[in-house]
Amino acid sequence: MLYNETLIRVAIDGPGGAGKSTIAKLVAKDLGIDYIDTGAMYRAIGLKLIRNNINIDDEEELEKVLMNTEIDFNEGCIYLDGIDVSNQIRTSEISMIASDCSKKKLVREKLVLFQREIGMRKSVVMDGRDIGTNVLKDAEIKIFLTADSAIRAKRRYNELLEKGENPDYNEVLNDIVKRDYQDSNRELNPLKQATDAILIDTSNMNIEEVAACIKGYIKKI
Ligand code: C5P
Repeated sequence: MLYNETLIRVAIDGPGGAGKSTIAKLVAKDLGIDYIDTGAMYRAIGLKLIRNNINIDDEEELEKVLMNTEIDFNEGCIYLDGIDVSNQIRTSEISMIASDCSKKKLVREKLVLFQREIGMRKSVVMDGRDIGTNVLKDAEIKIFLTADSAIRAKRRYNELLEKGENPDYNEVLNDIVKRDYQDSNRELNPLKQATDAILIDTSNMNIEEVAACIKGYIKKI
C-alpha cells in the first residue's frame, strides 16, 4: 500500500538493540517505500577509517578520506566505494568506531546532507539517532523506540549466537551501555527523543506488535 503522490517520511530513532532496523524494514515493506539505515553509513565510514589506518582525530586526513568516499544503498545492501560491505560493518569493533566517528563534525555534515537529499526526493522509513531531531525535522511521523538495556543486550547476544559467534553477555551489555552513553552525551546531534516523537518501549513487545503499533499511528495520518 503506497501513500501515492504525498511524501511520507517515517523517522525512527532510538538506542542500539531497540529493534529499529527490523521494524523499519517491515514498515517500509508494508508501505512500499525505501528503508534507509543511517547507522550503516556511520559504520561504513568507520570501516574505511580502520582499513586505511586513519587516526580519527587527524582532521586533515579525515577530510581527505570523506571527500573520496561514496556510499550507496541497493536492494537492502550498503556499498562503500562500489563494494558491498553489508556484512563487514556488523561487528562490535565497527559499532564502536562508528560511534566514535559519528561525533565528528566533518562526518556528520557529509552524512546528514546525503540523508536529507534522500528524504527530500522520496518517501522513506529512515532510522538512526538524530532523524527526528535533526535530519528530517519535518518527518510526517516520528517514532522513538527504546527498551531496557539488559533486554537490548540479550537481543544482540542472541543475534550473535545465531551468526555462529561465541559472545560474552556481559561484554555485549557493556558495549551497549558505553555506546548509549557516548551517543546520548555527544555535542553534535545526540541521541534524544524529538518533542513530537511517539515513544514506544519495546521491552515487552514482539516485532509484530511493535510493527502493528507503528502502522496504527501511520494510518491515523
Ligand atoms: O544504528 P547503528 O547501531 O548501526 O549505528 C551505529 C552508530 O552510528 C551509532 O552508535 C551512532 O553513534 C551512529 N549514528 C549516529 N546517527 C545516526 C545513526 C547512527 O550518530 N543517525
